[in-house]
Amino acid sequence: MKKAIDIRIKGIVQGVGFRPFVYNHALSHNILGSVLNDTEGVILHAEGDPADLKRFLEELPGAAPPLSMIMSVSEREAEVTGCTGFSIEPSRVAAERLAFYSPDVAVCDRCRAEFFDPADRRYLYPFITCINCGPRFSIVRDIPYDRVNTSMDTFPMCDRCRAEYGEPADRRFHSQPNACPVCGPRLSLHSAGRDLIASDGEDVARMTVDLLRKGAIVAIKGIGGYHLAVDARNDRAVAELRKRKRRPFKPFAVMVGSMEEADRFLEIGPSERALLLSKESPIVLLKEKSAALSREVAPGLTFIGLMLPYTPFQHHIFSLDPGMALVMTSGNVSDEPIVYRDDEAFERLGRIADYFVVYNREIIGQGDDSVLYVVDETPFFIRRSRGYVPAPFLSSDTRRPILAMGGDLKNSFALARSSFIIMSQYLGDMADPLTYRVFRSTVEHFIRIFDAEPEVVVSDMHPAYLTRQYAGELGLEGKRLIEVQHHHAHVAAVMEEHNLEMPVIGIAFDGTGYGTDGSLWGSEFLIASRGGFERAAHFSNFPLPGGESAIHDVWKIGLSLLHQCYGDAWPVMERDEASAGVIEIIKKRINSPHTCSIGRLFDGVAAILSLSRTVSAEAEAAQLLEETAMRGRIPAHPYIIPFSDSDPIVIGTEGLTSYIVSMIDKGINTEDIAAAFHQAIIHTTAAVARRIREKTGIYTIVLSGGVFHNRILLSGIIRILKNDGFIVCTHRVVPCNDGCIALGQIAVAKDSLIR
Ligand code: ZN
Ligand code: ZN
Ligand code: FE
Repeated sequence: MKKAIDIRIKGIVQGVGFRPFVYNHALSHNILGSVLNDTEGVILHAEGDPADLKRFLEELPGAAPPLSMIMSVSEREAEVTGCTGFSIEPSRVAAERLAFYSPDVAVCDRCRAEFFDPADRRYLYPFITCINCGPRFSIVRDIPYDRVNTSMDTFPMCDRCRAEYGEPADRRFHSQPNACPVCGPRLSLHSAGRDLIASDGEDVARMTVDLLRKGAIVAIKGIGGYHLAVDARNDRAVAELRKRKRRPFKPFAVMVGSMEEADRFLEIGPSERALLLSKESPIVLLKEKSAALSREVAPGLTFIGLMLPYTPFQHHIFSLDPGMALVMTSGNVSDEPIVYRDDEAFERLGRIADYFVVYNREIIGQGDDSVLYVVDETPFFIRRSRGYVPAPFLSSDTRRPILAMGGDLKNSFALARSSFIIMSQYLGDMADPLTYRVFRSTVEHFIRIFDAEPEVVVSDMHPAYLTRQYAGELGLEGKRLIEVQHHHAHVAAVMEEHNLEMPVIGIAFDGTGYGTDGSLWGSEFLIASRGGFERAAHFSNFPLPGGESAIHDVWKIGLSLLHQCYGDAWPVMERDEASAGVIEIIKKRINSPHTCSIGRLFDGVAAILSLSRTVSAEAEAAQLLEETAMRGRIPAHPYIIPFSDSDPIVIGTEGLTSYIVSMIDKGINTEDIAAAFHQAIIHTTAAVARRIREKTGIYTIVLSGGVFHNRILLSGIIRILKNDGFIVCTHRVVPCNDGCIALGQIAVAKDSLIR
């Protein structure tokens, strides 16, 4: 007796070769029927012996194509219609639009082999791709994922490409970016003045390598935007790029041609290796074992951000010079968003780059390279973007579509609908007007391509945040507005990732976030559920002279800490006109908000230790402090910073300052002081956590906040808490910095919608 079922599959199932996979899977299991795409995913009708059907269904998820991501399968019994074969039917528009796109991924091994095969018709063709690789999110303009809704719409396929596209057995069946040298996009090399220098792919590659070897700065159009490339071994060239890009400190990412090259000068562990070779092909922070690059690449740091080639063109240029090492940094000026449109590229990067490698296909979904680091073999995100966005996260039912704005720094927003959450790519800091504009247009783009017109809009509480202001504007259209405290969002993000429903002890060690009392928080121990929180402990407040701009003048924070502890008789730091001015604004409470931010505490300690005076980027001083601590000895008896027995517990910042000063007085070297400082934070954190556990009986601890990018702190705190019997949860799928805020906002908003 034959049986029939209708199956609905949701997830990333379009543009990834899902229908031909189902077709072959059906044939090999004696199943008849049909498969088709609609705006919600894939629908299939299957008829066969009950035993065959059962096996067909069971084996389906495990055999699915590499870029697919099945998020739900639902089936119901259907009528046997007596199908005589298995067919792929034309796409349909469903009542609901809820299809997902694959992220952009690295060129696959088979395409790469064809690319370097002189007999192949796509030999050295830089836009070679198949259903298992290449651009997706970056070329999508609208739903459903069909060629007409992508930036491939201006390239009609030639007969041979069309034949591949129409043949279910072909690796390029319904591959939307399918193209060849006859019909597809083309590469060209230009001067900064837009003069055409070369237009043949081979010439472009050869000349680009030549120019790079000579020290030129070349803007290269990649997947999500332009890179600025320069020889990473050429001091003068890298220094020139820093100058032109107005980026004095922030490390540059580097690309080398192969793992063997990377192994020569970097320490690479198993997890790091796997990340580098993954289809997502991110930047991974790796420890230098020998100095093979210009010191200008990452001044003063021992970790280098490295990635391997992931586009055919990148493979091409490294094949011409396998020993080359290139700086490949996002094409932008200072903190502006990545440039991804061609006319804009010549306009905005014209003063930085000497040459431009361009192609005539539009980038629609822009994005930077993703960045990860590995601690104790566990990967953590710093930036979640190309390769990962817009893969959805499975979530509990959100009831109403939610838009979460995230924060104003390191922004990434999120959309939630039915049982999915989609995080946007990294967008940057809203203080930059261009970034704010890109943020708004990207929000609109996401609402369109995921068809998720929000009914609920969530933002941070910070009155000065532009993201909050934008939420307010959208609220005028009758949407419900929800505000979430910054560190509650940090903690809730981890709860969402780990599916935690019971209250936790949430530790948010952060830059700054707006607190419910109007001060700037940032060393929070919260007893938190999704619905709310209590502040259980924090460091004591200290004045932040000049307000949040003190992020750059870290010496002012150092002075403020010393003055708080010793008054006008402060030791260590100089007494001059500038310091007198700072003391005066502290005393008169002019633009000196109070904060307990642990990020700022790191800045201040770095200043007291003379490691930093002014910095160009947030956390630069803290990074130098961590680097210094790595060279120091761990003290035999870690210092526990005194803390009160009040509610909330207050950890005495003065105690920490006097501890640092006493070590300076004893003539202990800076490396050892930096190490002792880290240990003091780690052991004090554990002591406070234990006290909170005694009071509440809560054993689950959640860690979040940008300060956990500090490896010593992260691994130290995890280790000590686990030894103490805590269950410790950290971020796995989003960064611990403010790139997680939108996810946490969604978690809190979902909770308030079910009440
Ligand atoms: Zn491929
Ligand atoms: Zn063609
Ligand atoms: Fe934060």
